[in-house]
Amino acid sequence: MEAQYKTRDGRLIFKVDAENQKEIFKQIAVTQEVFEAETECGCCHSKEIRFRVRTVDKHDFYEVACGGCGARFEFGQHKNGRSLFPKRRAEDGTLLPSRGWAKWEASVASVHNKVTYKSTQTGHVAKDSDACLIRESEAAQAAVRNPQRRVR
Ligand SMILES: [Zn+2]
Repeated sequence: MEAQYKTRDGRLIFKVDAENQKEIFKQIAVTQEVFEAETECGCCHSKEIRFRVRTVDKHDFYEVACGGCGARFEFGQHKNGRSLFPKRRAEDGTLLPSRGWAKWEASVASVHNKVTYKSTQTGHVAKDSDACLIRESEAAQAAVRNPQRRVR
């Protein structure tokens, strides 16, 4: 069985080849989860969004970046090393604001030419190599400031 699937925004067409309906269903489902995760920026609602891969210390970070306001939406990586999922929750399981979109400012103060990023939401400063940890520490700080969030 073969099928062609065009994403909701029409920018991508996937060819799905599978043994049966269930397999086609599954392949379309995982395609939708990642490639239709976001059709506009969660901060400024611009439709000028693009896929981007940043490589930091040999680790690849998959994200969608907004050309309008510079916000980013991150994808997590499954342990199988092949597939992605949209990151909508912090490490403690709470939903991230703006559906997971966040803005980061590059700051001038950098050591060894490493760009540092500061979240405009919290003012928390972290090195670019720590980018994947920013949300985790933010969530921890949020839990301290607002303990009742933990209960849910
Ligand atoms: Zn934006």
